[in-house]
Amino acid sequence: MSSPQKNRRPYKKATVVLIALVLILLFRLVEYIGHDKAPGDRFVIMRVIDGDTVELVGGDRLRLLGIDTPEKGELFYDSATLFLESLVLGKKSRIEYADKRRDRYGRLLGFVYIEDTIFVNRRILSAGLGYLYLVKDQELSRPRFKELLLAQRVAVESKTGLWGVIRDYEDKYIASRYSLRFHRPGCSSASRIKQSNIRTFEIMQEALYEGLSPCRICRP
Ligand SMILES: [Zn+2]
Repeated sequence: MSSPQKNRRPYKKATVVLIALVLILLFRLVEYIGHDKAPGDRFVIMRVIDGDTVELVGGDRLRLLGIDTPEKGELFYDSATLFLESLVLGKKSRIEYADKRRDRYGRLLGFVYIEDTIFVNRRILSAGLGYLYLVKDQELSRPRFKELLLAQRVAVESKTGLWGVIRDYEDKYIASRYSLRFHRPGCSSASRIKQSNIRTFEIMQEALYEGLSPCRICRP
């Protein structure tokens, strides 16, 4: 009589494991829905953290994709922050995500639209209050990133915002064939580029035109 009961035990165990798995899956699903909202959803922006980061209702932070604005203590930090505030604070936004919905800090990552017509990321570049910031070459094959590059080209050419500031110009600028950043020749980070991979630009505008952004260490 005891043997059939013994036989049933493994089934019991399997059932418990199965229920646990379903519960874990459900929990993860709930968690997923709770944190990540579908593209095209509208969100209200409650707080502007700096020129390229905002906080949404519910506390989620969102980093504007494809751009980088001056850090605290740098020139144009306040202007960029105030400009973003004037565009988005308290407004309903629409967010368009790229490949990754969140960055490694857990922030949402996207293009932000207000009233469906104001492309906020582009406005910041048009006002000369930030830099185009690409991570992958392929990004430039996408229309949104291309729009950003075009906006920056116009701002650079017309010396708008931070592009109008007199800088410490160099005779040349260098970049690696495999990177989207460019440097002053004396930059510590640039010294690590293999000779055969070095690209040289006579003026920084040439690098900017291609979509490269200034290194954060040597700040060309
Ligand atoms: Zn550098």
